[in-house]
Amino acid sequence: MMNIVYQSTRGGESGVTSSQAILKGLACDGGLFMPNRIPKLDISMKELAGKTYQETAYEVMKLFLTDFTREELKACIDGAYDGKFDTEAIAPLAKADGAFYLELFHGSTIAFKDMALSILPYLMTTAARKNHLDKEIVILTATSGDTGKAAMAGFADVKGTRIIVFYPKNGVSRIQELQMVTQKGDNTGVVAIHGNFDDAQTGVKRIFADKELAREMEEKGFVFSSANSINIGRLVPQIVYYVYAYGQLLHSGEIADGEKINVTVPTGNFGNILAAYFAKEMGVPIGRLICASNDNKVLYDFFRTGVYDRKRDFLLTISPSMDILISSNLERLIYLSTGCDPERTAGLMADLAERGEYTVTEEMKERMADFLGGFATQEEDKAAIRQVYKDTGYVMDTHTGVASAVYQKYKKDTGDETKTVIASTASPYKFARSVMEAVGDSRLPEDEFAVIDLLNQVSAMKIPGAVEEVRTAPVRHDRECDAEGMKETVRDILGLNVI
Ligand SMILES: *Cc1c(COP(=O)(O)O)cnc(C)c1O
Repeated sequence: MMNIVYQSTRGGESGVTSSQAILKGLACDGGLFMPNRIPKLDISMKELAGKTYQETAYEVMKLFLTDFTREELKACIDGAYDGKFDTEAIAPLAKADGAFYLELFHGSTIAFKDMALSILPYLMTTAARKNHLDKEIVILTATSGDTGKAAMAGFADVKGTRIIVFYPKNGVSRIQELQMVTQKGDNTGVVAIHGNFDDAQTGVKRIFADKELAREMEEKGFVFSSANSINIGRLVPQIVYYVYAYGQLLHSGEIADGEKINVTVPTGNFGNILAAYFAKEMGVPIGRLICASNDNKVLYDFFRTGVYDRKRDFLLTISPSMDILISSNLERLIYLSTGCDPERTAGLMADLAERGEYTVTEEMKERMADFLGGFATQEEDKAAIRQVYKDTGYVMDTHTGVASAVYQKYKKDTGDETKTVIASTASPYKFARSVMEAVGDSRLPEDEFAVIDLLNQVSAMKIPGAVEEVRTAPVRHDRECDAEGMKETVRDILGLNVI
C-alpha cells in the first residue's frame, strides 16, 4: 500500500503523516492539511455492497490513514461505531418522495457531526501514542450548534485531553444550547460568545496561530488541536457514509452496478459535501454534487459567479448549523482546483481575510464543475418539510429541509431524474419548534419539551435519548465572553494565569 502524506494548502508544511496531521488539526501557516493524492478504492462497489458500516469504514480509512496499523484502525472503528448509535446500520437510508435520505443522525448527539466525532477521539489518542506525545491535548472548537456537543460527547473524560467549545450565544436552537450547557466531564469547558459562528471560528483560528500563546502552552504541558472539520480526522470518516450509501443502494437493488447517483448536501462549512467529492474521486459513481445553502447563500453565489464574497449580513435562520459565511473547507477545493498550487491558494485566502472576497479563474471554475449551488429560503425550507410530511409521513429537520427544497428545485429546473441521496444531517427533535411550525401547527406551547411531545405525536420517530437526557439535566456551564476575549478565556480555563 502506498503511503499518503499531508501538506498544507498554503505551502508551509509538507510530508506530514496522517497521525501528525490529526494531532495538529490546522497547519502552522493557517492552511488545511490535504493528502498528496486522493487514493482509489481497492475493492469493487459490488464487494462493498455486502459490507457492514464498520467494514466499509476500514476499507476507506485505511487508504488515507496509512501510518495507522490495521489493528489500531480497527480498534478505533469498533470503539466509535457501536451501541452509541441507535441502529445497527449506523447510517440508514430512508426512501421518501423519490429520494434517498441518508440519515446521519443516529449517534449520541443526534446530528451528523457524530459520524466523525465519535471516532476522532480514538484517532487522536492513538495518534498521540504513536507520536510519543507527552502533552495534554487541548481541543479548541467553534460550533454553529452541533459540532460542540458531538465533540464533547466524544472527548468527555478522555485521559490526556481537554476540550473547550465556543458557541454563538443567540445562534443555536434551545435543544442545542441545553445539550451544551449540561455537558458532563471534568475536562470540558463551554463558552457562549457574544457574536456569530464566523466570529467564533475566526477567533479559534487566531488562537491557533498565536505563537506566544503556543510557547506558553508548551511550557505548561499543553498542545492545541481542533475538532472542527478543518481537521483531516473529521473529513476522512465522513467519506465513509457516501461509500456505504452507494453500497446499500446496490445491495438493495435500487441501482445497477456503475449507475451514477447525485448527492445533495445541506452545507455550512463545506466539510460534509467535500467528503462526498472525495468519495467520488475515490471511484464511487457520483454525478452531481448539489450544494444546498440557506439564506446565507455565499456558496450558491460562488458556484454561479466564481466570486466568493462574504461582505454581507449574517442572517440567523431556522437552520442555524448552516449559518456560516466563511466556509473553511472550501479552501481544500480551491487548492485542488489550482492544481494543488499552495501559493495561489494562500493568495486567495489572503484576499478573503483582507478584502472579504476573492475571485477564481475560469479554469478553476471548470475544475469545480461537479458542484452546483442551490439555496432555499426559510419559507421554502418549511414548505419542503411540510410537503414531504403530507405526502409520505416522513418528518425531516430544518437543515435537511433546505437540501430537500433545493433538490426539488433542481429536478424541476433541469429535468434530471438521476437517483439522489440527500444527506439528512439532524434529527427533527433537535429543531422541534421550527419543524412543528413547518408541518402546520402555528400555536405552539412556550415550553420546548411540550413541543417535543407534540412532534412525537405527529412523527413515527421515537424521542431520542439525547433529548430525554436534557429534559432534566442540571446546567453545568454558564461562561460568556466577547469575541475579543476568547484568548483570555482559554488561558483562564486552562489555569495559565495561576503561578
Ligand atoms: C454542521 C451541520 C451542517 C453543515 O455541514 P458542513 O460540513 O459544515 O457543511 C448541516 N446540517 C447540520 C444539522 C449540521 O450540524
